[in-house]
Amino acid sequence: MRFHSITRFLGIKDDHVEVFDTGEKEKSFWFQLHTKVRKQTCPKCKEKTKRIHGYRWQCIQGAPIAGKKVELHLRKRRYICTTCSRTFFEKLSFMERYQRHTVMLSQEVLSLSSEMSFTHAGSLLGLSTNRTLRMLDQRHIPVRKVLPRAIAIDEFKGDAGNERFQTIIVDVERREIIDVLPDRRAETIETYFKQCDTGNVRIVVIDLSKAFKEALRRQLGNPLIIADRFHFMRQAYWAFDKVRREIQQELYQEYRIRLKRHKEVLWKSPSRLNEKGKERVEEILGKHPELRKAYELKNELDKWFKTSDKDNAKAGLEKWFSLVDESGVEAFKNVVKTFKRWKTEILHSFMYPYNNGFIEGVNNTTKVIKRMSYGIKSFSRLRKKILWRQVVRTHAG
Ligand SMILES: [Zn+2]
Repeated sequence: MRFHSITRFLGIKDDHVEVFDTGEKEKSFWFQLHTKVRKQTCPKCKEKTKRIHGYRWQCIQGAPIAGKKVELHLRKRRYICTTCSRTFFEKLSFMERYQRHTVMLSQEVLSLSSEMSFTHAGSLLGLSTNRTLRMLDQRHIPVRKVLPRAIAIDEFKGDAGNERFQTIIVDVERREIIDVLPDRRAETIETYFKQCDTGNVRIVVIDLSKAFKEALRRQLGNPLIIADRFHFMRQAYWAFDKVRREIQQELYQEYRIRLKRHKEVLWKSPSRLNEKGKERVEEILGKHPELRKAYELKNELDKWFKTSDKDNAKAGLEKWFSLVDESGVEAFKNVVKTFKRWKTEILHSFMYPYNNGFIEGVNNTTKVIKRMSYGIKSFSRLRKKILWRQVVRTHAG
């Protein structure tokens, strides 16, 4: 009885398991575990039996205690069915079948691996990197297969499994990653949707990918598609930067460097510039009238983006289209082409509050993960790391 709390401490919830003896070595604690006889159901004929066939000793590794390894020496009992003579081992929930470690240890592997490198996680748990990876690979992480009302699809550069980009599926309202997909191909998304219950999906936030849009239409019928704000606004900043780079090309070395250095101040919205910044911008634009045009187009769009609502977004956008037309700046004409193709989805983003922000947060999360586990080649390990990190964080916060 006095060892009862120890079993709990070891993560053993099976109440027919008892600590028979325990001791301490230089680098480890050991526990001898016995089990009580219990009526068993034969796995073959389902008859009840209590007849013991024999015992086998098994050594199991547990989660470390106070930085020391934990060895569990289990006297495992084999029963025999009195009806059909089948022999079988008793069931124990604290260890996984065919494994030489406790469920608790593999849980710790997963939790630590989601916050640090696999090697570091393993070393804290007294495991080699290979064993850590094997344990991680054996773990199955349950994911939601019934998709919610509003989802977002976005990509990130994970560089795993020979693919530069991976895709995340996000529950927009609950702000949760639902799953991570190995690449950003339309077929992959379609296959994913086929494996899910998509009956509730009404709203999908996506970047400006035609392939995704078509895949959504094929698999989800006719959901309301919203263009992600970050993705469409980015187009204007890229266009502006294209103009800047073109001008830069024509400049002498000395001025070229200066203009490059001023990229940041030019990207900022004018309202956020201090006096010195404003002066610098004015100095640059004074020398390059073409850049001034691009600068004003970028700022106009930014203003539209920040001040429009569902009632005036459409008119404002059309007004901006004509400004671009008048300016004749080629790089922005391409933005207008894209915006016209995605006009409905872009305007949807002013009607519904489901966009931006969270995807950005997710992108930062994957950036963090990327930094910590630079060089994860296996997609499934990267996926587990991302999904489990979220589980850990959700429970902690
Ligand atoms: Zn039987």
